[in-house]
Amino acid sequence: MREDDASTDPNAACSRCGGELRSVLFRFSWPSRIALLVLTFAATFFGPAAHMSGMLEGVARGWAPGIPTGIGALAVAALAFSAGFVRLRRTACARCAATGWLLVPVTPPERAPGNDATRGESAATGTVTGRRGFLAAAGAVAASAVATIGAGFGGFVARFGPWRPVARNIFFAEVERTAPVQRPEWAGATVKSYRALGRTGAWVSDISLGSGAIDDVRVAIRALERGINYFDTAPDYSRTGSEQLLGQAIRQVGGRDRIFLASKFCTADGHLPPDTPVPDIIRAVEGSLTRLGTDHLDLVHIHSCDQVERLMAPTFHEAFDRLKEQGKARFLGVSTHTPHLETVARAAIDSRRFDVMMLAYHHGMFTHLGQIIDEAHAKGIGVVAMKTLKGAKAANLAGFRDDATAYSQAAFRWVLSNPSVSCLVVSFSKLEHCDEYLYASGTALEHKDTALLERYDRLASADYCRPHCGACLDSCVNHLPIDTVLRYDMYFADYGRTELAREKYARLTAAGLDASSCASCPAPCAGACPFELPIRAKMVRAHERLRSA
Ligand code: SF4
Ligand code: SF4
Repeated sequence: MREDDASTDPNAACSRCGGELRSVLFRFSWPSRIALLVLTFAATFFGPAAHMSGMLEGVARGWAPGIPTGIGALAVAALAFSAGFVRLRRTACARCAATGWLLVPVTPPERAPGNDATRGESAATGTVTGRRGFLAAAGAVAASAVATIGAGFGGFVARFGPWRPVARNIFFAEVERTAPVQRPEWAGATVKSYRALGRTGAWVSDISLGSGAIDDVRVAIRALERGINYFDTAPDYSRTGSEQLLGQAIRQVGGRDRIFLASKFCTADGHLPPDTPVPDIIRAVEGSLTRLGTDHLDLVHIHSCDQVERLMAPTFHEAFDRLKEQGKARFLGVSTHTPHLETVARAAIDSRRFDVMMLAYHHGMFTHLGQIIDEAHAKGIGVVAMKTLKGAKAANLAGFRDDATAYSQAAFRWVLSNPSVSCLVVSFSKLEHCDEYLYASGTALEHKDTALLERYDRLASADYCRPHCGACLDSCVNHLPIDTVLRYDMYFADYGRTELAREKYARLTAAGLDASSCASCPAPCAGACPFELPIRAKMVRAHERLRSA
């Protein structure tokens, strides 16, 4: 007796075509499987990828709250994966097998019963048999796995992928903040130009003080004495240490009313998420006032904003309106340097809510940003540039030691050559910065500055071994881990982690994989790097620096 015969009711008939009802094996239809893959994409996009994005933006504080959405995304992915090869047995019409769009019979009804043995499936039972059947099942499992991984990974990349270059710039770039050589003519430099900060009515120093890395009150005091009148700080800079230090400097020097003081909606732990209750936001700003020793902030930013949702969160806007009524905050701003910078900046302009925007802006990046900056300026929004030095690394700056103009000065002139920029904020952490940075104040961009910036860009590109690239590895006759050697050299030369770099390199030496053989090698690796790095020369230099004395 055939398996399906057991459940066949000879008196039952299909209500649609009158055919005989019997037990039939079904699989999920293609539309339902595609729907599950789309759901997997969405679950990853809005679940774990959104949480990671929030962590980078600073509004999600740890992994734990992301676990439920991660488990949810995994469950959906498991469902999508299973749908590829799950079989369900149901009673259905042997002639038309009408079941709706979700399920379709494994064996097409018109072939059932009994005439489809060549397909490797028993018509009556739909059971997959024989070698072809096994291959079909294995293919279904493999295709489901590939499709599910593709959908999940796609959701992750769509949400989180754009952060990669930004995160690398923000969190991993070792930025050279001080010129290798301090020139005597820079000594005693002062602010020479003040610009209007949009409709706020304030005139601010074109080069202004960022305090993300400040730990010496003398730096802030000297900046004030040299004419800087715009201070940018935030509660999460050094866990409120920056605000405390600036408060100390202002108390010592006096003249609070001459200083335009900007801070952010956040706490020592990080940025406030959009659903933060209004009283908590107000309390956070009052904490800033206490630390800064003032009764008002001139500007309060929605900090490092990556989403229009957070930009326009009613909680922030209501908190700001109340603070403004109470005289505790004068102007509202937004700071953004994220993958969605342009979207957020446009939304800020269109909302007519913001008086100031602080945007990542520097030579060779965000090419469409100039237009947005012009638009903001035309609408009376003050534009503050930040991240103006990103990309400048110590090793690459070595090629500029003889330049009379520091890289920083050229970078600042390029930014300030845009008349729509009100000022730039750069991180001051050493007393020398007051000389080096302010020497560029009020000076015009010259051809030699642009040439220097372009030369730097070329040098950086030609000098940088991309970690995890490995395109040249097969070309090495000695099977050396070229990318690893050059990464350790980067630790040594760019990051100043000399001991760590040598320690790691010693392990390569012990394994016979260091670059000692490169000096006498005919170098078949030449030309193997798609970025045209001179591999042998770099390996020889790395070995000289990293080998144990
Ligand atoms: S020069 Fe060095 S990296 Fe290049 S092939 Fe020879 S041993 Fe390998
Ligand atoms: S040397 Fe060039 S090809 Fe080799 S790992 Fe570095 S970037 Fe990639």
